[in-house]
Amino acid sequence: MRNTKILFIFILFIGGWWLFFTPLYTVPIITYHAIPTNFADTSFKVTLTRFYRQMEFIKNKGYKVISLSDYCQLLRRKEKLPKNLVVITFDDGYKDNLWAVNILKQFNFPATIFLIPNKIDKKNYLSSKDIEWFLNNTKVKIGSHTLTHSYLPQLDDASLIREIKDSKEILEKKFRVNVDTIAYPLGGFDHRVLKTVEGCGYICGVTTNRGLSKNDNIYALKRIKISERDLGIRLWAKLSGFYSVFKRSPKQR
Ligand SMILES: [Zn+2]
Repeated sequence: MRNTKILFIFILFIGGWWLFFTPLYTVPIITYHAIPTNFADTSFKVTLTRFYRQMEFIKNKGYKVISLSDYCQLLRRKEKLPKNLVVITFDDGYKDNLWAVNILKQFNFPATIFLIPNKIDKKNYLSSKDIEWFLNNTKVKIGSHTLTHSYLPQLDDASLIREIKDSKEILEKKFRVNVDTIAYPLGGFDHRVLKTVEGCGYICGVTTNRGLSKNDNIYALKRIKISERDLGIRLWAKLSGFYSVFKRSPKQR
């Protein structure tokens, strides 16, 4: 009798846990910035060797990496998502991302690099040639990170449209590819920004750590920042799909 009671409570506990947490699962969209070869001096950088080990972890643990565009199409079609998906993104288009792209190529992983058209071919940023190379030879795609990396909620309507629409058109014309995803600089967005992004033909948009809960708004998908320290259980937690449930709006960048 006592055992039955314990078993009943146990089933209730597991069932409750499962019912409560399963709906909170979201596919992890991870974010990188610069990938230097030397010591990473800030939390926004991950060294190339550590990046390699993180990709190795993703492969060895059996995750399936899909592109942001493909993930957004799945969301739009409201398809049931397997629990082993991971999306990889990079912000700003730093020159050193080229080394990371080579590693992604080795693993045959897709990813999206969010570019600032005004920074392409500038010092420390990817060149047009670099971008053309990876678009033709790897599964890495490009997205918009706006024209000038502005904090969007503060812009007037005309500037807002320029940042969102022109950046898309410039990238599409220059590289002859479809640019259908956007990352908001400094994680900045509001209702007006999301409406404009939708109106300009993007299929989805990503924030930094901040975001609307779950996948309520496909134009404000939360991302998880990956740091140099992330490996083993830390990386596993970030890839679990439940990380955002416990981590709430930290400092923005
Ligand atoms: Zn940025």
